[in-house]
Amino acid sequence: MMRPESLMMSYGYKPELSEGSIKCPVFLTSTFVFKTAEEGKAHFEIAYGLRDKLENEELGLIYSRINNPDLEILENRLTLWDKAAECAVFESGMAAISTVMLEFLQPGDMIMSSGPLYGGTDHFIKHFLNKLGIEHLEFDATFTEEQILSLIDQSGKKDKLKLIFLETPANPTNSLIDIEMCSNIAKELSSGDQKIIVAVDNTYMGPLWQHPLDQGADLVLYSATKYIGGHSDVVAGACLGSAELVQRVKTLRTFLGNMASPMSCWLLLRSLETLKVRMDQQAINAEKVAAFLSSHPKVEKIYYLGSLENMPDQKAIYDKQCLSAGAMVSFDIRGGENEAFLFLNNLKLIKLAVSLGGTESLAEHPATMTHAGVDPEYRLKVGITEKLVRLSIGVENYQDLINDIESALNVRIHETADIEN
Ligand SMILES: *Cc1c(COP(=O)(O)O)cnc(C)c1O
Repeated sequence: MMRPESLMMSYGYKPELSEGSIKCPVFLTSTFVFKTAEEGKAHFEIAYGLRDKLENEELGLIYSRINNPDLEILENRLTLWDKAAECAVFESGMAAISTVMLEFLQPGDMIMSSGPLYGGTDHFIKHFLNKLGIEHLEFDATFTEEQILSLIDQSGKKDKLKLIFLETPANPTNSLIDIEMCSNIAKELSSGDQKIIVAVDNTYMGPLWQHPLDQGADLVLYSATKYIGGHSDVVAGACLGSAELVQRVKTLRTFLGNMASPMSCWLLLRSLETLKVRMDQQAINAEKVAAFLSSHPKVEKIYYLGSLENMPDQKAIYDKQCLSAGAMVSFDIRGGENEAFLFLNNLKLIKLAVSLGGTESLAEHPATMTHAGVDPEYRLKVGITEKLVRLSIGVENYQDLINDIESALNVRIHETADIEN
């Protein structure tokens, strides 16, 4: 089998079905014409699981909420990076995450997650699943296997644990959770009628730099808005795993109606062609930027996966599950909110915006922006202080990025005051 980057231009697409077009067209159609009534009947038998597929029989095209060529081709291509059996693509990362949680949890069940989580995921668990009577346990990167097991024991609901949800590296501090350890816990506690699913939000590292399915996870999730889309022009999400689990997720997606549109899928197909070259360059640039930041007197501390020398436990997880240090670099600036804002307001090439993983570099202030809704005490506990700045490194020339960062770091508070006067 060829490597994924060699197949991103063609895999799963047959030009002869589209007038020989080299590129997959956008199939802007809501419904598909059946050749005969018998064919329509057969398609529905498969779609609704009324009978098993015959040999070589595929689910035919029915209606764009169920399937569409752009959606199916994109799903097939995405499976290659994680070597997953199946993929379901959604209209957003949150749609993928919430659909998985709704499919695998019922009232009375318990979900355990790592923290901190992406703000939307955190809110969905604590404010929506909570309303459905689904309990929640949370641990962080400092917990050992023993401590996690005793957390589960003490909850008194060990037999109700159904889903372990991880986000690693954690946003915005890059702290790592051991995926294999968590999947061992899930296996240990699973029994005949209680199968505990491990799902990993791999947005920060994927799909190139970390493969959670290889570490024992059951499902891997993405905000495809980030690296997969990569151009800050599309919102989408994905869920990958075994055929059995992803089929359940797709069935719920059919009824929630939160699949990605043909246009979003087409944009993502285009993005996938350059995924590897973009991500490779972003990682190289991030390494250069991180090296510059670590030696700058105004930088107090750096949170970057390439700088874990003084954290042997984190380094061991990194060596086991990460293939690159990625392109997300956070740092503590000397001072507090004023100094952080001064820096952000003086960047020129790097744009001040949330989101990440795109071709253009972005900077933001987690404490007052992406993590503004997180409990302040908890925020401090996990290191999201007023002096923390998060950078998503893009594909620009790294020297230009460093020059931009350097001149913004060098601006002093009274200099801007002079300009204002
Ligand atoms: C952005 C993001 C999400 C949510 O994805 P959307 O596409 O914005 O819905 C989930 N998890 C992580 C880690 C993210 O960065």
